[in-house]
Amino acid sequence: MRLILLGPPGAGKGTQSARIVERLGIPQLSTGDMLRAAVAAGTPVGVMAKDVMARGELVSDALVIGIVADRIEQADAARGFILDGFPRTVPQAEALDHMLAEKGMRLDAVIELKVDEKALVARIAKRAAETASRGEPVRKDDNPEAFQIRLSAYREQTSPLSEYYRGRGLLRVTDGMAPIDTVTADITRLLGAEVA
Ligand code: ADP
Repeated sequence: MRLILLGPPGAGKGTQSARIVERLGIPQLSTGDMLRAAVAAGTPVGVMAKDVMARGELVSDALVIGIVADRIEQADAARGFILDGFPRTVPQAEALDHMLAEKGMRLDAVIELKVDEKALVARIAKRAAETASRGEPVRKDDNPEAFQIRLSAYREQTSPLSEYYRGRGLLRVTDGMAPIDTVTADITRLLGAEVA
């Protein structure tokens, strides 16, 4: 199964992806995680992405499209995957369509987590506080200024993807404000018999 999780920063894409991974045994491909790993390792991609990410802006389409193209070639993605944080722009969605078409593959569904923007700021502050209290480094973009920029990037560049995928009959919407287990149950229901 090939899925996309769509939703603003803090919507719970990572949390829900982890649960779907467990249930379906397909990998979660998070471009945010891949980019953070590249930054930490100081690779050329990481060097290019570092400051852009810290500001809360999007890195270039070409860069992330390249990363995803390489990643979906790997053996563990052959049976399917959950994309978390990609695509984030219409050109990325078009590039993904191309990549999959070349392999004779297609997407099965796009799950959008609908959330109230006001609640997101509080969620991110909580995530940063919890990370810090575990003694782990807090993400450079988990601060109010970068968060507002991430939210604007979502509104302006990513939210048009709802219509893009609705038009292709792939969009399924769930209430991301519900408790975590309820959201998981709803996603399972939306995906239908294949994951029951
Ligand atoms: P969030 O928790 O805000 O959804 P992610 O962990 O998915 O964030 O991504 C963190 C940052 O990595 C983004 O703000 C952006 O700078 C960069 N990034 C991740 N995925 C993409 C993408 N598909 N296109 C452009 N930039 C991306």
